[in-house]
Amino acid sequence: MKKKNLEFETLLIHGTEYNDQWGSATVPIYQTSTFTFKNAQHGANLFAGKEKGYIYTRINNPTIDALEHQMAILEKGYGGIAFASGMAAICATYMAILQTGDHVISTNAIYGASRVVLEQWFAKFGIKSTFVDTSNISEIENNITSSTKILYIETPSNPTVKITDIKKASEIAHKNNIIVVVDNTFCSPYLQNPIELGADVVLHSTTKYINGHADVVGGIVVTAQEELYSKIRKTMIYTGSNMDPNQAFLIMRGLKTLALRMERSQQNAMRIAEFLESHPKIKKVYYPGLKTHPQYELAKKQMRGFGSMISFEMKGGYNAAIKLLNNVQVALLAVSLGGVETLIQHPASMTHASMTPQAREESFITDGLIRYSVGIENINDLLSDLQQALDKV
Ligand SMILES: *Cc1c(COP(=O)(O)O)cnc(C)c1O
Repeated sequence: MKKKNLEFETLLIHGTEYNDQWGSATVPIYQTSTFTFKNAQHGANLFAGKEKGYIYTRINNPTIDALEHQMAILEKGYGGIAFASGMAAICATYMAILQTGDHVISTNAIYGASRVVLEQWFAKFGIKSTFVDTSNISEIENNITSSTKILYIETPSNPTVKITDIKKASEIAHKNNIIVVVDNTFCSPYLQNPIELGADVVLHSTTKYINGHADVVGGIVVTAQEELYSKIRKTMIYTGSNMDPNQAFLIMRGLKTLALRMERSQQNAMRIAEFLESHPKIKKVYYPGLKTHPQYELAKKQMRGFGSMISFEMKGGYNAAIKLLNNVQVALLAVSLGGVETLIQHPASMTHASMTPQAREESFITDGLIRYSVGIENINDLLSDLQQALDKV
């Protein structure tokens, strides 16, 4: 039976391309830095790419390979490249594609560090970047120049969960020979497959939903085509930003329950979004599953569910936000997201503190904004936790 024909949930369990002589049911951890050659010719053939096999763990390793294969299948792409972290995956993608004089158009409200690397590091090498509200397609169109090489999209965006139409954005980008990169961390392949919608590269911080247990950091890139795959893999190898076999093992273990975790957490998220929307101390709730969300219809079309990331703004601004953070008892006060545990944080002073105040304002990251990553706890505990914390505000 062709694995590609299996349903998503089955691929989570049986999607790894791994077989060994012992019939291991799970992929073992190959805790080795290097692999011996059968003879000199074998070594030379491996280096020349004439034979398939393993050379050195920075280049590849059976445990990491298994995760890369599985993610490529889940994201419906050509191949996967695993990295030490999500940021390593993002930086390697930029390094592989861009050169001095090139220009990037990006969603303005993205993961804080993804923006900072462009503005503070890639800018040093003469790479320009423009940050726009990509949920408004004309803002993309109006900022394309002859040097634009990458359109970088995060959808839903972070932390304001705005939705960008990947299909429309990709059509415009491709007309202008621009490579489309989508950070799919918030959705995971369970909810959205950007490559099917036209993206050239999809990437994840596997630290989040893919692993899902807040116990490992990692990243992965999946490309639609061979050419970009080879470029980005080479960048990974030469910058030494590879994943470690232990990381790959833990991520594969977490990945098996992705569908179950996503289902439960997004059910919880819907209930919480509705609760918050009707609460008198809350000014605004950002959640694509709410009919009041400006791109509710697009989210319904583009995503197979609304996910479990919520942001909301407190009527009492900064002081109210801080009061709430200091009074929750079930949700953990911590950054990161996409794990089995509910996390709460304050973007303006935490995840997005490195952005300039002006950039934050343009991206609607106000001082009263809170980001809430919904876990898989019992919904009643999460609701009463928020209720009692809001009572103290
Ligand atoms: C966490 C995150 C990243 C960065 O990933 P790390 O694994 O922390 O390096 C990038 N994009 C998004 C959307 C994230 O949530």
